[in-house]
Amino acid sequence: MLSASASLLNVKVVILDSGDHAPAKQIVAPTAPHLTHVDGSFADAPKIQELAKKVDVLTMEIEHVNVDTLLQIEKDSSLSKLEIHPSPSTVQVIQDKYRQKEHLSSNKLPVSEFLAVENTEESVKAATEKLGLPLMLKSRTLAYDGRGNYAIREVSQIPDAIAQLGGRPLYAEKWVPFTKEIAVMVVRTTSGEVASYPVVETVHKDNICHLVFAPLRSRDPTLSDRARSVAENAVKTFTGAGVFGVEMFLMDNDQIYINEIAPRPHNSGHYTIEACETSQYENHLRAILSLPLGSTALKVPSTVMLNLIGHSSSMSEIEKTRDVALTIPGTSVHLYGKAECRKGRKMGHITLVAESDTQLRERLRPILLSLPNSTE
Ligand code: ATP
Ligand code: MG
Ligand code: MG
Repeated sequence: MLSASASLLNVKVVILDSGDHAPAKQIVAPTAPHLTHVDGSFADAPKIQELAKKVDVLTMEIEHVNVDTLLQIEKDSSLSKLEIHPSPSTVQVIQDKYRQKEHLSSNKLPVSEFLAVENTEESVKAATEKLGLPLMLKSRTLAYDGRGNYAIREVSQIPDAIAQLGGRPLYAEKWVPFTKEIAVMVVRTTSGEVASYPVVETVHKDNICHLVFAPLRSRDPTLSDRARSVAENAVKTFTGAGVFGVEMFLMDNDQIYINEIAPRPHNSGHYTIEACETSQYENHLRAILSLPLGSTALKVPSTVMLNLIGHSSSMSEIEKTRDVALTIPGTSVHLYGKAECRKGRKMGHITLVAESDTQLRERLRPILLSLPNSTE
């Protein structure tokens, strides 16, 4: 999606990812022999070095990159003209969720209680005594789609939780009994100005983002401004340019806590492609290239994004939903071209736009009914 935006602005892109048919490489062909894509992992130091030598600006779409290599590149005098966005130090803080929480808390941003724990039963038990049950035990690193989380409801589950999270560094969070999950995309320029997108409501299923509705509907007229300003203030504490996804919890008393921040275009911002004046991808590019930012305003009254999650190793369930979606006005289907479909894997998404919330719900219903195990 970033490559598609870059192509419209005639910005040449070189991709580092594994395989010749990685999704982003299917969008843009190499434009010159010295601009061929790199085949390898974003955790592999020599491959990141190879990419850095080819480009003027280096950015990433995932925070689980080899950040030590990025920090070295930043100090390398032979690459002094290269810009890295967001800055490696931002990625370093964010990719360790415990450090990220400490950073937010020390900047007086609203986060719920959390504690460092050792990978031992005694240490996790001590955390349950301090923070209560249920307790959310989380992997500090390499987490996504809830795969680094374990909700401990009883002390007897502690050994299983440690075993499941498999030897990774851990920390504990107090359970947050939120009423809604909300998110705000924020774009930060190279000079540190920020602009935010409308507040969205995110609905998760099995720990994976399922639906994103925009704009957020609320009886509290102050909520939208408060959420946007929490998100903007959080992003102002980091360095480097680009878009950031700020995930938040909304409480019964309308209090807001930050759950976590992603230093990149984010799933809760996919709707911006069809529903906003400027998509998160285009604004990410504009920000990292020091171009003027585009408007973040919604251009439709109501929108929803539905993730297309693999149900099995076959794409047939997703193709069924695609075929229903293609019959409905206001629908855009995105299929990512990933090499394999797997249960629980994000294979694409659908965005719907409508003239009203009522029309949106009417358009969404047959699409939800086409999903496997639909409960609509
Ligand atoms: P992502 O795919 O968004 O990067 P992740 O693996 O980093 O996900 P989190 O965002 O930390 O995981 O948590 C996943 C989901 O688990 C949250 O969206 C929320 O529904 C729930 N959750 C996380 N932390 C807590 C908490 N402290 N209390 C209650 N629920 C929580
Ligand atoms: Mg995360
Ligand atoms: Mg999350």
